Amino acid sequence: MPDTTPLTDIRTRLAAAAKLGGHATPTLIAVSKTYGPDAIEPLLAAGVTDFGENRVQEAQGKWAGLRARWPDVHLHLIGQLQSNKAADAVALFDTIHSVDRPSLIAALAKAMQSSGRRPDCFVQVDVGDEPQKGGVAPGDLAALLDTARAAGLPVVGLMAVPPAGIEPAPFFALLAKLARVHELTGLSMGMSADFETAAQLGATHVRVGSALFGSRA
Ligand SMILES: *Cc1c(COP(=O)(O)O)cnc(C)c1O
Repeated sequence: MPDTTPLTDIRTRLAAAAKLGGHATPTLIAVSKTYGPDAIEPLLAAGVTDFGENRVQEAQGKWAGLRARWPDVHLHLIGQLQSNKAADAVALFDTIHSVDRPSLIAALAKAMQSSGRRPDCFVQVDVGDEPQKGGVAPGDLAALLDTARAAGLPVVGLMAVPPAGIEPAPFFALLAKLARVHELTGLSMGMSADFETAAQLGATHVRVGSALFGSRA
């Protein structure tokens, strides 16, 4: 039986940090990218319902079988999405965290119209001015949100991946402020190293991989 002790510890710390900030406990998204069903099943058995993947193709292969056994699972796409994979993403995922440009909005809107599925969408913001990570520049966010709403996308919040190696709190605070300004309630922020800081600053979704599964190869 694989060890699910990290899960208990993470849940406890997550709840305590959120409480400290006066917030509800965020949804814990177990980021299972690169991990196979053997590593995922113990978490499903322990009651984890939300999983994150960063590649559409990898997720399709892995989750087809798992979902048949665990129909209540909620799948989150957390990685950059190419427009030509939008239809596959809409078919598989319940929430998409990486909406960041008009061409992708158009592709997602088209896929939602033809499939009838409407995954919740987070708009990714490039809070640390690192264009290679994806995300819309904070100054372009208002216009992109207008585009997304005009296209009928169900935008529920904002997502960010702050720069590595420096204090993340100012970036989380910036994302929270942008969400408030735009009247969005969802805040997808915080990973293994900083989910407590994110929860304290009002994250509604934290994305935790290595702290749950061990470091990736
Ligand atoms: C991989 C990944 C995570 C999880 O990272 P860990 O440090 O392993 O917790 C969270 N968010 C995104 C966007 C990722 O790509």
